[in-house]
Amino acid sequence: MAKVRIYQLAKELGMKNEELLELLDQMGVAYKSHASTLSEEDAEAVRELVREQRGLQEKLAEEERRKSLPKRPPVVVIMGHVDHGKTTLLDYLRKSRIAEKEAGGITQHVGAFEVKTPQGTIVFIDTPGHEAFTTIRQRGARVADIAVIVIAADDGIMPQTEEAIAHAKAAGTKLIFAINKIDLPQADPEKVKRQLMERGFVPEEYGGDAIVIPISAKTGQGVQDLLEMILLLADLEDYRADPNAEPKGVILESKLDKQAGVVANMLVQEGTFRVGDYVVAGEVFGRIRAMMDADGNQRKEAGPGSAVQVLGFQELPHAGDVVEWVPDLEAAKEIAEERKEERRAREEEEKARRPRTMADLLRTLQEEGKKEVNLILRADTQGSLEAIQHILAKESTEDVRLNVLLAQVGAPTESDVLLAQTAGAAILAFGVNPPGSVKKKAEEKGVLLKTFRIIYDLVDEVRNMIKGQKEPQYKEEVLGQAEVRAIFRLPTGKQVAGCMVLQGRIPRNAEVRVLRDGQEIWKGRIASLKRFKEDVREVAQGYECGLGLEGFDDFRVGDIIEAFQVVEVPA
Ligand code: GDP
Repeated sequence: MAKVRIYQLAKELGMKNEELLELLDQMGVAYKSHASTLSEEDAEAVRELVREQRGLQEKLAEEERRKSLPKRPPVVVIMGHVDHGKTTLLDYLRKSRIAEKEAGGITQHVGAFEVKTPQGTIVFIDTPGHEAFTTIRQRGARVADIAVIVIAADDGIMPQTEEAIAHAKAAGTKLIFAINKIDLPQADPEKVKRQLMERGFVPEEYGGDAIVIPISAKTGQGVQDLLEMILLLADLEDYRADPNAEPKGVILESKLDKQAGVVANMLVQEGTFRVGDYVVAGEVFGRIRAMMDADGNQRKEAGPGSAVQVLGFQELPHAGDVVEWVPDLEAAKEIAEERKEERRAREEEEKARRPRTMADLLRTLQEEGKKEVNLILRADTQGSLEAIQHILAKESTEDVRLNVLLAQVGAPTESDVLLAQTAGAAILAFGVNPPGSVKKKAEEKGVLLKTFRIIYDLVDEVRNMIKGQKEPQYKEEVLGQAEVRAIFRLPTGKQVAGCMVLQGRIPRNAEVRVLRDGQEIWKGRIASLKRFKEDVREVAQGYECGLGLEGFDDFRVGDIIEAFQVVEVPA
């Protein structure tokens, strides 16, 4: 870059000469007049400083602007282990709400409801459970600001409690722990607090910052405190939204109704939606025909924090789809179509770059500029789980930080796969086998899921990834050999070899090579494998079979068909 004079630089940066001279004084850069030339480094340093200051100013202005916006109610989701009282708590809140209204009547399920207290309003998502939460998050939306983790005082922290915590944490949602069922004689809230502390959540009463509230969802004891804590936290976090911004919302649920057609429940997050607006939710477009709120009222418009039932989408949007306002029908159609295309392309690409090893995963993460590898650990016993965590805790380096999202006893679940996909995590399982459905899901979602029989194999896999040198090695493993005894030609011209399996087995889906006089003359896939005209999946040693190959029709009697598979060699 050419040398620059001070007045030129001032012009470039849109500053007055005096301003720039003052800045140079502050920086301790010497000059004679505004016609002096600056060294390249000094000029660059000035540019950098000005950029930084302007960034800061913008940020402050943005913050100022945000502070002038109206507050919006916090959005809360209730999560926790099955039977710990999520539904009961939601019912209690819903009922208290009806009592407040005195109407005692018609409420409409719109996916969320408001609870008004003298201190403020809270929006509760009306479906318990973290499945919904994760599905929504997977689509890139953040619905809840705060997660209330319900833990039954007679049962304590259970696997789904841990999952709920992991999901909420991964989403950056604030946590409040509600120790429920304290009305029961066998309730032991202190035990639950100890369990929380063991997991690093130290209750405020013990000097930590974890919010823990004992409640009974049945009698309502403590629920008021819970609401107050939610509002206190919300005040601290200072949730605000601009009712005049471009409208944005998120789909909570959707269903097909015989009469009304597509019915979608939406939470409005920014701006104000109006009847007649054109909208796009994910790959689906529509025009808002009608909106109804939780009190069953028809609404002409819905602002930040409102949950409404929306009629007018052309197809079913997915839970978690972000709803955007668009100016006209054409734009709506176009955007929806583009997204469909994009998704197809993305799916193809994801298929191609599905990680096979931890090293692959790390490479992908590094390409994205990340240094943290998220792990979900599964093991057969608490003992082995702790052993693995203990060893892995020492393996993090400056370049690769290991972050255990979830460590749990038992086989990996579909919910693990969802969490892994959203958080870009790998699932490592020791001594437990995931069900077929979970393996399939992981495969579909491109999630790395590996099972190990030996703890050190698991640890080695992680170590090798961190060392980043060990490329996976593959080798061929021979599964079996068959000899061609006779050759038939089908009317289509395709050759079928009558074979005898000499050793091992010939699986239908294996790769095969044709050996003639000990030389490989062809390699590929089996087109058909039959015994007595029946398609079979595999033929074992000592049996005859009819075998056709994909793209090879040149058998000779005496050829050897060798089946093999490619396996990864442990480093
Ligand atoms: P969910 O699976 O988490 O939605 O749990 P539910 O709300 O269905 O509650 C499971 C069981 O615990 C039900 O029989 C509830 O009546 C009971 N339950 C929930 N909360 C309380 C509570 O505060 N006290 C008592 N005694 N029972 C409760």
